[in-house]
Amino acid sequence: MHELSLCQSIHGIVDRAREGRPVEVVHLQVGRLRQVVPETLAYCWTLVTDGGPLAGSRLDIDHVPVVLDCGDCGRRTTVADALLLTCGSCGSGAIGVVSGEELLVTSIDLRDPADAAAASNSAAPSGPAPAPEPTPTPAEEH
Ligand SMILES: [Zn+2]
Repeated sequence: MHELSLCQSIHGIVDRAREGRPVEVVHLQVGRLRQVVPETLAYCWTLVTDGGPLAGSRLDIDHVPVVLDCGDCGRRTTVADALLLTCGSCGSGAIGVVSGEELLVTSIDLRDPADAAAASNSAAPSGPAPAPEPTPTPAEEH
């Protein structure tokens, strides 16, 4: 299951990038050539993050289509079936892959700090409440 090792490397990248802050969503670009099953990737993410600082975060996967440059007719085509790497115009196998091999963490959504504070509301407030200043009485207007 290569999704598991993918999740472990994603976890390493995100954990360094978050700098101790809570993470809500991890945005990924995954090329079709990676043959990643989104449901499996999401499941492995819960396994990898379970009990850790990234538990509860989720993956948002942006699939990158497979784009090929043809060495015979020179056309650039997008292929629907990543298992059949031939030119979409002339059918030649003399192709170069332009995109479709990506596996990138593009951005990270941090969890709203207000939510994090609400989650730890059971903790006792630290420090004494500020005492109200006594209001000085102004001189009477007579
Ligand atoms: Zn072609």
